[in-house]
Amino acid sequence: MEYITVVGLEIHAELKTKSKIFCSCSTGFGEEENSQCCPICLGLPGTLPSLNKKVIEYAIRAGIGLNCEIARKSFMDRKNYFYPDLNKAYQISQYDKPLCENGHIQINDKRIGIKRIHIEEDAGKTIYTNEARLLNYNRSGVPLIEIVTEPDLSSSIETSECLEELKEILIYLDICDCKMEEGSLRCDVNINIESKDKTIRSNIVEIKNLNSFKAVKKAIEYEESRHRFLLRENKNTIRETRRWDENKKITVAMRKKEEAQDYRYFPEPDLLKIFVEESFIEEIRKGLPELPNEKRNRFILQYELPEYHINIMTKSKEMSNYFEEVVRTVKNPKMVSNFIISVLYKRLKDDRMDIEDLKYKIDDFVKLLELVVNGYISNNMAKKLYNIMHETGENPEIIMKEKGIIQLSNEKDIVKIVKEVLEENLKSIKDYKNGKKKVIGFLVGAVMKKTKGSANPQTVNEIILDILRKK
Ligand SMILES: [Zn+2]
Repeated sequence: MEYITVVGLEIHAELKTKSKIFCSCSTGFGEEENSQCCPICLGLPGTLPSLNKKVIEYAIRAGIGLNCEIARKSFMDRKNYFYPDLNKAYQISQYDKPLCENGHIQINDKRIGIKRIHIEEDAGKTIYTNEARLLNYNRSGVPLIEIVTEPDLSSSIETSECLEELKEILIYLDICDCKMEEGSLRCDVNINIESKDKTIRSNIVEIKNLNSFKAVKKAIEYEESRHRFLLRENKNTIRETRRWDENKKITVAMRKKEEAQDYRYFPEPDLLKIFVEESFIEEIRKGLPELPNEKRNRFILQYELPEYHINIMTKSKEMSNYFEEVVRTVKNPKMVSNFIISVLYKRLKDDRMDIEDLKYKIDDFVKLLELVVNGYISNNMAKKLYNIMHETGENPEIIMKEKGIIQLSNEKDIVKIVKEVLEENLKSIKDYKNGKKKVIGFLVGAVMKKTKGSANPQTVNEIILDILRKK
């Protein structure tokens, strides 16, 4: 039996507001435990929350960025449940009327539906030690948006692509820093499988609180095979919530899946209804930056790069800014993106670095590429220089001086070396005369070797041809 995987996501993104959703406490990460909380975010009796307008603005940014309809009227609900790090024993969230609905996210040629985006407050954090359970409420009341997708994803790879794209959009929108390791982006996965004719299907299982894209991918793959195995045995999965065990690389049952009625949602009586003016939405829309998809389309038209190059150059805001900054001076987009991909990007990946961590200045990178474009050094030499720049942060001209690398731009010098090489390879001259044009490549290589890569191969090629023709 052939099965199709059905995946839907619930993504929690912490908004980058300076203060919490219902009080003026700071949202800064990593501060001393319980130093950023007050009676309101602790939900002590007699306190009243008041909604932070920035939260509405950021959620609407997300809504527009993900092609949603923005509700002009919405309200907050109470979602009742007891959890040690949720001091009030209820979470203020949105149930009936979320702020944003019916959007989509485009990945490759597929459109993944966004069911809703609603705003809510985060809970605190429980730290388990051998002796005790410790509670830190600094995160309690930090604003979140929950983005719920339609179950339109059909593989672990597609899910990863969707999450990457979503993360990129949130970063471009500047509303969430998406640091999964700090918990500012978390993901729940709803998964089941069904036969192609939809007559047989497994029950939906929820995997909670995945905190890396890798874990999401692995957990989906694990569940796919677990569901298949059970159906093959004429059993089925239980509607339950599971968690990913990173050490054992398996999912583990946590609890029976709660239904909406288990939470006893009801409208939050302490907060006013939310009315959003059309002009407020328009103002936000106008202030939005270029989003990844728009940027990709512009790059295709403006720089005429191959698809693979486009994808990497627009992979992150930082990467695309870097590329555009370099291309402003070095007006050869293909050459620039080629160099970035094969040299810079490769080093970043090898060294697990981000573009912001580069030691050298962007002007020095421009200088290096200009040396290549103007024919002062070969591509190979540039690669070598790059690697030194990457490690030391020094500029290419200083490195060349220090290493005693001569810029072989002087034709006379190159002619001299070409003549030497021809002397040493008399057979090649004969071969060329006999019509074996391939020897040119070999001779260029020999000259490049002799000049330690500092001559421009194009110039070398021309000079060799010139001399051979005259012979
Ligand atoms: Zn507070």
